[in-house]
Order: sequence, then C-alpha cells, then structure tokens
Amino acid sequence: MSSNDNNSNAYSDFHLQFIGGEWQKGKDDSINTDTNPYNGDTIVEIQQATKDQLDEAYDAADQAQAKWAKTTPAERAAVMYKVVSILDQRQDEIVDWLIKESGSTRIKAMVEFSSARAITLEAASFPNRVHGEIRPSNTPGKENFIYREPIGVVAVISPWNFPLHLTQRSIAPALALGNAVVLKPASDTPVTGGLLLAKVFEEAGLPKGLLNVVVGSGSEIGDAIVEHKAPSLVSFTGSTSVGQHIGELANGGEYIKQVALELGGNSPFVVLKDADIEQAVKAAAFGKFLHQGQICIAINRVIVEDEIYDDFVERFLAHVKTLNVGDPNKQDTAIGPIINEKQLKSLKEKIAKAQDEGAKMILSGEIEGQVVPPHIFTEVTREMDLSCNEVFGPLVGIIRAKDEDDALSIANDSMYGLSSAVFTSDMQKGLRFARGIRAGMTHINDISVNDESNTPFGGEKNSGIGRFNGEWVLEEFTRTHWISMQNEPRQYPF
Ligand code: NAD
Repeated sequence: MSSNDNNSNAYSDFHLQFIGGEWQKGKDDSINTDTNPYNGDTIVEIQQATKDQLDEAYDAADQAQAKWAKTTPAERAAVMYKVVSILDQRQDEIVDWLIKESGSTRIKAMVEFSSARAITLEAASFPNRVHGEIRPSNTPGKENFIYREPIGVVAVISPWNFPLHLTQRSIAPALALGNAVVLKPASDTPVTGGLLLAKVFEEAGLPKGLLNVVVGSGSEIGDAIVEHKAPSLVSFTGSTSVGQHIGELANGGEYIKQVALELGGNSPFVVLKDADIEQAVKAAAFGKFLHQGQICIAINRVIVEDEIYDDFVERFLAHVKTLNVGDPNKQDTAIGPIINEKQLKSLKEKIAKAQDEGAKMILSGEIEGQVVPPHIFTEVTREMDLSCNEVFGPLVGIIRAKDEDDALSIANDSMYGLSSAVFTSDMQKGLRFARGIRAGMTHINDISVNDESNTPFGGEKNSGIGRFNGEWVLEEFTRTHWISMQNEPRQYPF
C-alpha cells in the first residue's frame, strides 16, 4: 500500500481539467486513461479538453497575467516559498504518484522530487533578480533604458519521463517572473506532469487563471496550443521530431512566437585508459539505467579506450548483473517498467536490430509485462542504430575507441548535443577533452545525468535551443524592452 492511500488530506479529483482557477470536466468525447505502467491498473480516467476549453484557458491566462505582472516581487516570491513548503509536506504523496503514474523507481522519484523542489526555490529568487540597464547614447541628450518585463502568456508542453520536474522547471520560473501559463502535460502523465502541480499552486494561493492545465489529445489541441495568438513563448520539452514540428508552427504560422526547445539526446560516456575503472563502471550503470534509461541526458553511448575495453566490459557486466529489476515501489529496485507499449515495442525492435547489425549481446533477459531487464551489447560501432539514435530504454552499446582522438571523434559523431561525460584521472586532459565535445553540458568523472537549478541546462544541434535554470531561464522567460529618453531637442538633418 502506498503511503497516500491512508492520507485523508491527499489530493483527489484528478479526472478534471484546471481552467481559469476552476476544476471542470473536459468537454471532448475522448477519454485519457491514465495507467500504472508496472501493473496496468487504471489510475484515473480524464475526459479530455476541447479546443474551446483551450481558448478559455488562454483567455483566463491573458486576463490574469496583466494583474500578476503588477504585483511586487515579494508577493510572487511568497507564492514560490509556499509551494516549496507544500512540496515538503506532501513529499510522500508526490513520490507515490511518480511511482504509480510514471513507473519511477523510488530512487528516481526522490531524485525527481528534489530537482522540482530545487528549481522552485531558485524561482523564488527570480522576482528580485530581474533588473534593467542604463546604456550610454551617441545621440546628444539621449538616455537609454533597457527594461526586462514579463513575456506574457507562456505555453508549456512537457514530456512523461521526468513529468514533475520538467513541468515545474518551466512553470515555476514563468510564474515567478510575472507570466501566466497554459500547460499541456504528456498523455501518459497528466497528474504528475500537470494536475498535481495545479493542486499545489492552488493550495499555495496562486491567483486564479495564472496556471491552467489542459489535458487533451494531440489531434484536438496539440497544434492549437502552439498556434494560438495568446502565448508569446512556447516552452517545449520532448522529442526532436515533435520539437521540429513545434518550431515550424511557432515561426511559420500567423503569429510568430519565441520557442524554447529542450529535445532529444545521445549522450556519450567516454572512459579514457587512465580512468578509475571501478568508479567508471558504477557511474555507467547509474547514468545508463536510472529510470530504465528513459532520460534525455541518460548515457546513450559508452565509449571505452581499447587498452581497457575488455576489463571495463567484464566489470560492467558483473556489476549490472547485481541490479534489482521489477517493482518500482520496492526500496532497492534499480530498474522498473517502461512507460508504455509503444516505447516497449521500439525497444524490442532495437534489440533485434542490434543483433542483426552484428553487435554482441552479452546480457539479456526475459521481458515481463513492461519490465525490460538490462541488455548489454559489445563490439558496437558508431554506424549502428544503438549509436546513432536515442535508445530511451535499458539497452546499452559499448563502443571501442582506438585512442583519445578516436574517442572524441566518436563522441562528436551525432546530430545531438545535449549532455556528455568523460572519465580520466588526469583533470587537465579531462578538461581539454570536455571542451572538445560539442554539447551543452559535459561532466568530468561523473555521469551525464546532472541538473542543478543554478547552472545552464540545455543542448545544441538537434537537442534544441535555449537554456533552463538560473539567470539563463530568467532571460528566456522575460522580454527586453529598450526605451530611450531624449532630454533635449535633437537636431535632425531635415
Ligand atoms: P514527445 O515529443 O512524444 O512528447 C512531448 C510532449 O509533446 C507531450 O506532452 C506530447 O503530448 C506533446 N505533443 C506531441 N505531439 C504534439 C503536437 N503535435 N503538438 C503539441 N504537442 C505535442 O516526447 P516524449 O515521448 O513525451 O518524451 C521523450 C522525449 O523527450 C525524448 O526524446 C527525450 O530525449 C526528450 N526529452 C528531452 C528533455 C530535455 O531537457 N532536452 C527532457 C526530457 C525528455
């Protein structure tokens, strides 16, 4: 039994939409059946929203935002602090939701909870960190003021893998900076990716209309949420293919808007010959298999220098064999279920393809329900599917690099550029190697899975545009306004 089953104070009524500060029934004919990926139980059935309800959400956001932008920084910070305190009080309830709705293991759910809490705390500092500038002018008698203002209404579209955190890292900064939000969570995680956070912000006293959560099908509201006139910014986190589509809609339609795109990854994890192999093995296992590998910054390619390849493989295999696989609710489970059948099918195809392409499968196991045990492939080359594409599952390919230069060339041989990691006992070498990687983030002697609320999170190439966290998201979620003041009559040429 999960701890919140006994909690009479636990949030309920997750079958409703949250629009204009009211909980209301969706008006579309279709139902979103939210299921537990481990045991297939139905958690909640949500009647989906129509396009009219999306319009209603945008109208409410638009109206509420104008007033919210005029509130004092202290008022907005107070809401964020209240949210942090509610998160703390409801930690067990939230962790239980992450386990049952997103198939998170207890370990992953705690990691996610902590990240969501951290960005909320960081966001509480944003209202007081926004500042403008005064710049000199080459025009006599002129003063230049640069204002930073809220951007207005922000559309947020979030994925299912870290639903609580990846939603919160957009909505908390957006709201703290005086904006309003219309959020569409992923269909697999409507509660942890949206409705649960709506309950938390409601309890924290966020004024009505500032946060709207619309649960709907891609075909009914998917494009409309981006194309609507109201949002000035679309903050999308998800796959590269959907991100490309959203980028086109946001910039090729009637209304041009800014986009922040946090997309797919193919993180290399490089082990150079002077690395602490034991530490690298443990890091590789955690960075690869946390949340069953369903993380955009998860290790996707393990690249090992020839001299230590066999030793690394032997020790990695031995360590991975010790991981517990199965029920995510158990304290010591390392690998839980895959989110849905579509993802499961794609993983089965990847396993077959890796073997067809000549990779050597040195660890496998029976797939039970949606639980896929770890699969390890060796003698993987950079041309194989396992190397070229995002895996998003507990399968890993280990690539042999001739030397350091070859390892760097393999690491950079990708259309993605999100996160990366390198292991070496020589920090100078590590730094040189890290700087040679084309990616938004590189971690020396650690895993590629790192996210801190005060450091820039984001990628380049097909991993997206924009950065989250710290002052980077502060810039992203505000607009710049240059206002000049001509203090004496200017002399015009005619
Ligand atoms: P997805 O692209 O399928 O879906 C993401 C969101 O977009 C969901 O809410 C989905 O309902 C919505 N969506 C789908 N089609 C849409 C449309 N036409 N218009 C508007 N919205 C639409 O991604 P996913 O399967 O939920 O997540 C996995 C992917 O996300 C992986 O590729 C992963 O790497 C990436 N991801 C990236 C980051 C990052 O920070 N860079 C973080 C997590 C996940």
